[in-house]
Amino acid sequence: MNNNELWQSVLAQMQFHISKANFATWFQNTEIVSKEAEKITISVPNAFSKEWLSNKYNKLLLKTLHELDCTIKDLNFIIKPQSLENNQLKNLSENAKIETEQLKFDEFKINKETNLNPRYTFDNFIVGSFNELSHAAALAVSDNPGVTYNPLFIYGGVGLGKTHLIQSIGNKISDNFKKKKVKYISSEKFVSGIISAIRSNNIETFKTNLSSIDVLIIDDVQFLAGKTKTQEEFFHAFNSLYEKNKQIILSSDRPPNAIPELEERLRSRFEGGMISDISLPDYETRLVILKAKLQEKGTELPEEILEYIATNVKKNIRELEGALNKLLIYYKINNKSPDLETSKKLLKGFVFSPFNIANYKKIIETVAKFYNLEEKNLYDPTRRREIVKPRQIAMFLLRKELKYSFPSIARKFGGKDHTTAIYAYKKILQENEENNKLTEELNLIKQRIYSG
Ligand code: ADP
Ligand code: MG
Repeated sequence: MNNNELWQSVLAQMQFHISKANFATWFQNTEIVSKEAEKITISVPNAFSKEWLSNKYNKLLLKTLHELDCTIKDLNFIIKPQSLENNQLKNLSENAKIETEQLKFDEFKINKETNLNPRYTFDNFIVGSFNELSHAAALAVSDNPGVTYNPLFIYGGVGLGKTHLIQSIGNKISDNFKKKKVKYISSEKFVSGIISAIRSNNIETFKTNLSSIDVLIIDDVQFLAGKTKTQEEFFHAFNSLYEKNKQIILSSDRPPNAIPELEERLRSRFEGGMISDISLPDYETRLVILKAKLQEKGTELPEEILEYIATNVKKNIRELEGALNKLLIYYKINNKSPDLETSKKLLKGFVFSPFNIANYKKIIETVAKFYNLEEKNLYDPTRRREIVKPRQIAMFLLRKELKYSFPSIARKFGGKDHTTAIYAYKKILQENEENNKLTEELNLIKQRIYSG
C-alpha cells in the first residue's frame, strides 16, 4: 500500500468516529507526505488544523494507522498551505480515485441551497419493522408536504437513521416540487444562527429568511433544551410557517415530553402533528442491511461473516456500516476477503460486549447528561425540582441496578440520614408505575447506561 492508499484507508475509517461536519473541517486537504522508519508525517493546510488534529485526533489517528500498518509508531503534522488535491489524485490507482471521489461526493458535495446530502435517499433506506411507521410517515409527507402530518417528529437513538430519513424527505421534495424551498438545519447551526443574528442585530433578516422556506427540517432538536432565547425564536418561526401550511420536520433522540427544559408551548407544538420512533433493527434486518450495503458498494463477503456481524454488532446501523467498512478495507488491501477468524479480530471494537455493565460513574454521568446538568449539580443540596428529580433518579438507579445499600447511597450524596435515599427510591418506584413519561425517561437512561 502506498502512502496515498494508506491515507485514504485512514480517512475512510475516521468517518465512522467523528461527525460529518468535523470530518469535512479537519481532514480536507490533508495527506501523508512521508513515512520514514516508524514515523508518519501528515501535511495539513493551516496551523489551526494542525493544532486540532494533534490535540484531538492524534491518538485515534495513530491507532488507526498502526492497525493498518503495525510498523507505524509515531505521527507528526506539518503545515503545507496549498491545495494538494491534484497531485494526490494523480498518484492514486483508479480504484482509490473513485473512492476518493465518493468520499468527496459524500462529505463535500452538500447542496448549498438546501444543506441536504444527496447520499440520503429513500432508495437506499432499508425498511423493517423497527422503522416502518416512521418510513411510511416520511413518504406521506414527501408526497404531500404541509398537508398530511405537520410537524413530523421522528425520534430514536443515535445511528438509527433519523438524519438519513429526514434528509430523504428533503431530497424527494426537492426533486418532485422544484419550486419548493427546502432547508435542512442541524439544531446546533440553528442555535448559532440565532445567536449571531441577535449579536449583529440581524434578527429580522434571519426571520425573513426563515419565513420564505417551504419545508424546514431541523435535526436533533433535543439540543434546544434549556436555550430559552432560541426556543422563543423557534416558536415564532414555527408558528409563522405552520400557519402558512409549510411543512416542518423534526428529529430528536427522545420524544418531546422527555426533552428537559423545553418550553411547554413548544412541546405542545411538537406534539401537535405526527410522532413516530425508530427502534433497533432485529437480527434478520441487520443481515438485510449488511447485504444491501454490500450490493451498493458492488462487493461481497462470505455469508458466515455477514452472520457473524449481524449476530454481534447490535448497537446501531452506523456501527454495522463501520464494521463492514473495516472488513472491506482489509479486503482491498489484501485482495481477498478476511476469513472468519481474522474478521473476529478486526471487529473486536464493534462487538457488543456482555461487560457493558452499569457502575456508579456511568449512572451519575448518564443521568446528569440526560437532564442537561453537570455531574456536580446532582450533589447540590437544593430543592429545585430540576435537580431534585434527577438526583432521585440517580439514587433509584444505584439501588435498583447496583444494589447499593441505602446508607451507602446517602453517604455518596453527602447526607447523614439514609431515609432520604429510601424516600427517593420509593418515590421513583411508585411514579414509575403511574407516570408513562417517567417510565419512558428511565428506559432511555438505562439504554444509555448499558450501551455506552
Ligand atoms: P442518526 O441520525 O439517527 O444518528 P444516521 O441517519 O446518521 O443516524 O444513520 C447512521 C448511518 O446508518 C448512516 O450512514 C445511514 O445512511 C445509515 N442508515 C441508518 N438507517 C438506515 C436504513 N434504514 N437503511 C440504510 N442505511 C441506514
Ligand atoms: Mg443524526
